Amino acid sequence: MPHKPVEILPGLFFILRGYLNANHFALRSDRPVLVDTGYLGNWGQTEDILTRLGLDLNRVALIINTHTHCDHVGGNDVIQKRSGCDIALHPRGAGYMRNRDDRSPWWSYYHQEAAFFQPTQILEDGQVVHVGPHAFEVIHTPGHASDGIVLYNRPTRILLSSDTLWERDFPVMTLAVEGDGAIENMMTSLAKLAGLAVDQVYPGHGAPFDDFQSALQRAVTRLERFQADPSRVGWDVIKKIFVYTIMMKRRVAIDTFFDQLMQTDWFPDTVDRYFSSGYRSIYDQVITEFHQRHIIKINGHDWVTTVRP
Ligand SMILES: [Zn+2]
Repeated sequence: MPHKPVEILPGLFFILRGYLNANHFALRSDRPVLVDTGYLGNWGQTEDILTRLGLDLNRVALIINTHTHCDHVGGNDVIQKRSGCDIALHPRGAGYMRNRDDRSPWWSYYHQEAAFFQPTQILEDGQVVHVGPHAFEVIHTPGHASDGIVLYNRPTRILLSSDTLWERDFPVMTLAVEGDGAIENMMTSLAKLAGLAVDQVYPGHGAPFDDFQSALQRAVTRLERFQADPSRVGWDVIKKIFVYTIMMKRRVAIDTFFDQLMQTDWFPDTVDRYFSSGYRSIYDQVITEFHQRHIIKINGHDWVTTVRP
C-alpha cells in the first residue's frame, strides 16, 4: 500500500509511490492541479489515492508533467478526457505528443504502456508555473529525458526534482534515444541545480530528502564513473529494465523471457552498444546474479521479482 499523502505546502500533497509509478503531487482545491500522474498500468490505484485525498477528477484544472516517461504521464489521457484539463510540459515533450512520437519518450523502445494526450501549455526554462497559490520556477534539466524539468519553489526552498536527482539511486540513462551527449547533458543539468538553495527535495522516485548537496555529489560521481567506463551505463540499463519489465508484466516465463527480450528494441541494442559478448551470455549473467541476490525467484514456470512495484 502506498504511503499516505503528505502536505508539503498549504493544500499541496506529495504522494510517495512504489517504483513503477513516479511520485506525484496534488493540489486539493475546487480546481485541482496535479504534477505527474503515475503509470497507466496502475491507474486504478492512482485514481483511488487522488479520490481519497478529496479531489474531484472531473474538476481538474491543470496537469503539469516533469517529462513524458510512462511512469509520470499515466493518468493524463483519462483525466483530460474527464475534466478537459490543461496539460503543461516542456516544448520537447509537447512535440512528442503532437507528433505521436512514442520513441522519444521511450515508450516503444522499452515496450511500455502509455497513452498520448493533448498538450495545451508550454513550460520553458526560466518560466514560472502556478500550482494554485504556489509559484514554481521551471528549470529545464535534460540528460535523463530531453524534455525533463524540475520545479523550484524559491520562498520555501523546496525542489521537486523528478528524475533529475534522486537521493541515492540514479535514473536510467538511455543514450540510444537521448543521444551520445546524454551523460554530458545530465552533468550540465546537475551543475545548473547546484547553485540553488534547497532545504527539501521531493524526488520522482524514493523518499524526500534534505541533504541536497550530498545527493548532487553522489550523482556527479555516478556520471563520472559512467564517463570513465561506458559499459557501466549498459549494465545499469539492463539490470534496471529487467526488473521493471518483470514488475510490469508481474511474471515472465523462464522458457521465453530471453526470446521476448530479443524482440524488443532496447535489449539487443544495449548489448550491441556496450558489450562485445553475445546476447545470451549477458542475459545469463544478469539472470544468474539476480537469482543469487534474490532479486528474482522462480514461481512455477516463471520468474517473478521480489522488488515491490
Ligand atoms: Zn524518467
